Amino acid sequence: MWGQRQNLAFWDTSVGQKILTLDFIFRKISEAQRSFIEAAARHDIHIACPSDCGSCCHGFMPDVLPVEADYIAYYILRTNSGTSSKPGVIPEVPAALPTLETWLSQKQPDNPSPCPFHDPFSPGANCRVYLARPLICRLFGYSSSRAKTGQTIFRLCRHMPTPEGFSARTLDTKELNAAIGATPPLMSDFAMEILAIDPSSASERTQLSEAMPSAFARVSSMLRYCPDEPEPHAAA
Ligand code: SF4
Repeated sequence: MWGQRQNLAFWDTSVGQKILTLDFIFRKISEAQRSFIEAAARHDIHIACPSDCGSCCHGFMPDVLPVEADYIAYYILRTNSGTSSKPGVIPEVPAALPTLETWLSQKQPDNPSPCPFHDPFSPGANCRVYLARPLICRLFGYSSSRAKTGQTIFRLCRHMPTPEGFSARTLDTKELNAAIGATPPLMSDFAMEILAIDPSSASERTQLSEAMPSAFARVSSMLRYCPDEPEPHAAA
């Protein structure tokens, strides 16, 4: 996975190891969300964002841990380096934009989002780093949270239409589980998992735009000292 065969030394570094661990967690989230949406669909409950919505990015700047910024930096560097490496969550090479500065300067002046990666004119997902987006962006709309009472609840995003078969816009996940046999991933569980990748960096959580320059410098210097390695020959 993740081009490890071409970049063994990078994946042995602490930066590479943390990116790999985060990739594993992000895959678990995607799988849990997919299971939830599919289980609902089997009961004729269709949970989906309105097409071309992107409202969750308007006026929003995610806070991220350093590892989340590293993950995006790796995505930008590898998908623009002209290599054939295709990390697990990064199957396609998007429009080539070679430097972080270029990415950060792509904002349209009338863009309603402060996030440097938001592109309201991009069809579908309005995020230029969608495949590498941070935790909060992944969970928004498709996760459950813990209420003050201790119960876990799933609340529909205000832009989502109420699906047929939903009795309310906020549901107890126990009821949801009884009805469709699945629940969306619990936000706090995954927040803790990501924090556990590097607990010492908890106090370094900061806005995405502030986190990106140092992440880009960190990951690019590691990649510079860990050049791609040849594919191992298949055993005869
Ligand atoms: S990182 Fe992407 S999904 Fe998250 S706020 Fe920015 S544009 Fe939106």
